[in-house]
Amino acid sequence: MTRDIVQQAFETIFVETPFPGVTRIVLNRPESRNAQNAAMLYELNSAFNQAARDDSVKVIILAAQGKHFSSGHDLRVPDFVAEMAPWDPVGTWCGFGCDGAEGRMGIEKEMFLGLSERWRNIPKVTIAQVQGKAISGGLMLIWPCDIIIAGEDAEFADNTAEIGVAGAEFFHHPWELGVRKAKEMLFTSDFIDAHEAHRLGMVNHVVPNEALQGFTEAMACKIAKKPSFTLKLLKEAVNAAQDAQGRVNAMNTSFALHQLSHAHNEQIFGLPIDPTGLPAALRDKAAWKGKPVPK
Ligand code: ZN
Repeated sequence: MTRDIVQQAFETIFVETPFPGVTRIVLNRPESRNAQNAAMLYELNSAFNQAARDDSVKVIILAAQGKHFSSGHDLRVPDFVAEMAPWDPVGTWCGFGCDGAEGRMGIEKEMFLGLSERWRNIPKVTIAQVQGKAISGGLMLIWPCDIIIAGEDAEFADNTAEIGVAGAEFFHHPWELGVRKAKEMLFTSDFIDAHEAHRLGMVNHVVPNEALQGFTEAMACKIAKKPSFTLKLLKEAVNAAQDAQGRVNAMNTSFALHQLSHAHNEQIFGLPIDPTGLPAALRDKAAWKGKPVPK
């Protein structure tokens, strides 16, 4: 039985149904290179929920408007707690407004690690369609997907070390790239281009940008011809194989270390990051809890 699904209206994303069985969720803040604020993350979560609950949907394509997939978390957001207030939490950790490390850990466990992990486990096939740059938090939207199709200009980087932070919160680097390349990416903050990402097994296919949408849709339609329950079981089986290798324990450890890097920066700079690593233009715009970033 198919339940009636009421499609929600969104501000930072849009959702369309290009083919039977295929839903496309599109990031729609191209003017800010699809930087992620709390609204975008929770709207994405609502859209994933809708697609997961709609029994007619078998495949979810995650795409982005504009030249770049996502520049990561929006550093111009003054206060994530205020921003997330209209949304119901998806986890039970809470304490988002608490002082010190407790509040930050609560927010990040909910909004960054929690949402990405949730989307990784959604029982529908997910395909990321990536063009341009995907940086740090941008990886946390792509890596939870089952399949990644990259345009030839796609580039991937985690530049958190430049601001004294120990990697993106959804710390999938070793699982996506292998241990040595993960270390190189994190230590250097260098971009990995689409062909290198393909060679490393991080992306499934690299196609010319003009063919990116068509290629992704063709694969989605091919997968959508398979029985829904079989697809769910296959996804669960592959994810279980990865989890049996210790992924969940490793993710919990890296998340705790990430929180330690924020707490360290708070002690030294009064901010969750080391602002001396920010480019001057970004330092001027950035603010936390309404406080300007020190020069
Ligand atoms: Zn963080």
